[in-house]
Amino acid sequence: STKQHQVIVIGAGLSGLCAAKLLDKWDIDVIVLEARERVGGRTLTKRDPSVKYVDLGGSYVGPTQNRLLRLAKEFGVETYKVNEEEDLVFYEKGSQKRFNSVDALPRFWNPLVNLDLNHVWRTIDKMGEEGSSKFTFCFVWNHSSNRTLRIITLVVFMERKFVGGTQQISENIAKRLGDRVLLNKPTVSISQQEDVVIVRTLDGDEYQGKYVILAMSPILQMKIHFNPPLPILRNQLIQRTPMGSVMKCILYYKTPFWREKGYCGSMIINDTDEHPVCFSLDDTKPDGTVPAIVGFVSGDKVRRLASLSPEERKQLIARSYSKVLKSPEALQPIHYEEFNWMGEQYSGGCYTGTCPPGFLTCYGRVLREPIGRMHFAGTETATYWSGYMEGAIEAGERSAREVLNTMGLLSSHLIWQEEPPSDIIPIKPFKASFLERNLPSVQGLLKLIAVSTILEMAAVGAFYYLRFVKK
Ligand code: FAD
Repeated sequence: STKQHQVIVIGAGLSGLCAAKLLDKWDIDVIVLEARERVGGRTLTKRDPSVKYVDLGGSYVGPTQNRLLRLAKEFGVETYKVNEEEDLVFYEKGSQKRFNSVDALPRFWNPLVNLDLNHVWRTIDKMGEEGSSKFTFCFVWNHSSNRTLRIITLVVFMERKFVGGTQQISENIAKRLGDRVLLNKPTVSISQQEDVVIVRTLDGDEYQGKYVILAMSPILQMKIHFNPPLPILRNQLIQRTPMGSVMKCILYYKTPFWREKGYCGSMIINDTDEHPVCFSLDDTKPDGTVPAIVGFVSGDKVRRLASLSPEERKQLIARSYSKVLKSPEALQPIHYEEFNWMGEQYSGGCYTGTCPPGFLTCYGRVLREPIGRMHFAGTETATYWSGYMEGAIEAGERSAREVLNTMGLLSSHLIWQEEPPSDIIPIKPFKASFLERNLPSVQGLLKLIAVSTILEMAAVGAFYYLRFVKK
């Protein structure tokens, strides 16, 4: 028999759950259909006596992620600061550099790399002041600074974690929604008729709603049959956002030996496959128990190393850490956890759907454009912190407000809402020194050299002409 509801949300990740939570607050009859046997999507907290708890998916929260912090506060989930007391390590081509706290970024022997990095931070600041969201690394001149920047950007944003793990937030929302969250219900078809939408799940069940919210990565929507078929741009859009390739690997130790040696556990590693992890962080619990280092293996490295056994990966990472930290203790992990999102049928990879060059120009405008009674959520459709948990919440709440607006319950100017700043993690502005504000970029320096060379040559020419030719 067909079950009838006002709104059907598909996907019980943070985005779908936040959409349903908001609709529930408005007393809308909403259900959530989730493909997996659990809620949380790309947030997953494993609980196990040997590790207490460990986040295998989304985990870190930082300044300006105000929606996520609001939710955490609502459910009493506290945050703690990731250890950064001791030195961070930057490791490239077999050599180790130490630097202290992310406020003081590493300096390089090559002055062009330093100029390049300085120029990038300054440009980002300027773009922020201008409200530009078109952030790109394409104005970076040097390959080495480009690679370094990508990694530093990731580490800098990873300031805090949630005590007890991130999945708690989704679990708390699901608890509030109770039996309106249905697990093991992969949606296989969505059929829009004059005044209803019919959603069918893999087990043959059928659900009828006035509206439907699709809250999952665009490319996963390729698994759903649409009737009528999707409009042409949408049909192409969902083929063009492949999921990234990342694996989290956590090595547990008897003691936090790195702290004793003056390292905080953050490593930025820019080297060959001998070093699988590109960056790492201290993952010891806030009370100092369960010493651990979490490492991220991504891109080509994870694709190449995916065929190894977990034991082989553990050994490889332990050997790498022992070199990078110059510590034989790293060779003796007492426990290992890893999770490869590339193998997850209902995620397809992580952290997020990627946009190939030209994607946003061609397809960006239809990314969250409703199609009849179908609305779109999921972090990939967010305008702020897209790809992150914050973006997932923004998108979920925005999609719910779109539906409320279509129902005639909410004015259209209230669909998009700013989030007040959180008092849990205040925003700290970066302070730039005189030199940082005034040093030229690499391009600027080259122009300066070219202009001064031309002027010098002109002066020499003029002197020669006046002194010898004219005479
Ligand atoms: P998802 O969480 O993917 O939810 C989509 C849901 O839809 C899933 O539950 C899925 O099972 C379900 N679904 C899929 N297909 C169907 C179907 N056919 N029928 C029904 N249900 C379906 N973000 C941060 O902010 N900080 C971090 O530190 C961070 N680190 C990360 C590390 C890793 C390893 C990963 C994987 C992600 C990380 N992220 C991080 C990203 C963050 O986790 C995601 O952006 C966010 O959780 C996405 O939420 P979502 O609801 O948009 O999508």
